[in-house]
Amino acid sequence: MISGKAKLAGVIGHPIGHSKSPLLHGYWLREHGIDGAYVPMNVAPEALSVAIAGLRALGFRGCNVTVPHKEAVIALCDTVDDGARAIGAVNTLVFDEAGHLHGSNTDGTGFMQNLREGAPGWRVEAGPALVLGAGGAARAIVHGLLAAGAPEVVIANRTLAKAEGLARDVAGAGNGSAIAFTLDAVPDVLPRTSLLVNTTVLGMSGQAPLTIDLDGLPGTALVTDIVYSPLETDLLKAASRRGNPTVDGLGMLLHQAVPGFEAWFGVRPSVSAGLRDHVLQIPPRG
Ligand code: NAP
Repeated sequence: MISGKAKLAGVIGHPIGHSKSPLLHGYWLREHGIDGAYVPMNVAPEALSVAIAGLRALGFRGCNVTVPHKEAVIALCDTVDDGARAIGAVNTLVFDEAGHLHGSNTDGTGFMQNLREGAPGWRVEAGPALVLGAGGAARAIVHGLLAAGAPEVVIANRTLAKAEGLARDVAGAGNGSAIAFTLDAVPDVLPRTSLLVNTTVLGMSGQAPLTIDLDGLPGTALVTDIVYSPLETDLLKAASRRGNPTVDGLGMLLHQAVPGFEAWFGVRPSVSAGLRDHVLQIPPRG
């Protein structure tokens, strides 16, 4: 039930039908009994600026931004935080009382929070991180790792130029360094890797498998895959079989949503087992 004073937010993308964000924000709204709504909005690229003006006119508190608008929306923001500027993408928009629009990117902090919760004994300072991929998600993750204190991030991508561009763009995010290679370098880098992250689409349902031989990876190295469909990817299965600690990618999706919800609805929500089940559409336990 919502009243005439309901707080409004949502997610804009194109298409939008696959988005899990309405499911997860809807769970938190109900959990906290908030008079508010979070709605999916299908916005074609040519309608982006009209849509943002419309949200302002309609009194929305803000919204999430997903593919393909994350880069283009930067030009429509009044202010953008430094991280989002370096990453080159915004995923969270907040209107202030005066209608000014602030853009930020919470994917990198959501990724880090997922690792902190899923592998509490692991330390980002422990050694180099090896990130497979240099797409949109990788940009936020590499920035998040350096900002959190990673001493070195090795980016290995099919297209070398994209990895090199990312390494340049994140320089200065922390005291560590980012270096770029193609995927051929992976076997040489694995023996000194403390964190292995897959950010490519490989291994996702409907995509080609990720074929990587984990021989040489230290047994203590943490392995994570941001692909969460399936939840336990072949990479995570292979890592578990050889005894490496693993963290799945669903928690990144859930944690990146926390700052937006807090800004729009005034309550900092928690990422619980109940929320995970709800987003996975598993019936309540017990
Ligand atoms: P993107 O910008 O399109 O980047 C795709 C990446 O995959 C690029 O590095 C690309 O390499 C690589 N790639 C694609 N096909 C490949 C192939 N055949 N062989 C080797 N590399 C290949 O996508 P994105 O937005 O970063 O998303 C990547 C994945 O992360 C998706 O599965 C998405 O669902 C998932 N994701 C999860 C979360 C979460 O919260 N858990 C958040 C965002 C995204 P090139 O540069 O060479 O093309």
